[in-house]
Amino acid sequence: MSDCIFCKIINGELPSKNVYRDEQIVAFHDIAPAAPTHILIVPVQHIESVNTMTDADEKLIGRLFTTAKGIAEKEGLSERGYRLVVNTNAEAGQTVFHLHLHLLGGRQLRAMG
Ligand code: AMP
Repeated sequence: MSDCIFCKIINGELPSKNVYRDEQIVAFHDIAPAAPTHILIVPVQHIESVNTMTDADEKLIGRLFTTAKGIAEKEGLSERGYRLVVNTNAEAGQTVFHLHLHLLGGRQLRAMG
């Protein structure tokens, strides 16, 4: 998608502070961190949101989570705890319409709501 910020990051057209990259997944620091650790885990494939996921994406979505687990471990968060968040559409606050997991940690996180 030519006008997608995350596609531009993945293609190297926009800068990012990457912490992980393979053929299917890229992870980089959020530009406006909401916690001491705030990393976005993003599939290379442009999937708009959870709403547009299909059965064919199941393995990839599983890999997003195992990648998040590995990054949390590297960041020293496994024992302390961390939160994985996926916002979907307007009322959830989704602003970038390229599926991503937020990995948040490094401080006591407040209850969700
Ligand atoms: P969401 O609101 O769930 O769609 O999350 C989008 C996230 O992308 C927000 O936390 C933004 O701060 C983050 N973001 C937007 N532009 C960039 C960028 N160029 N580099 C890194 N993170 C970004």
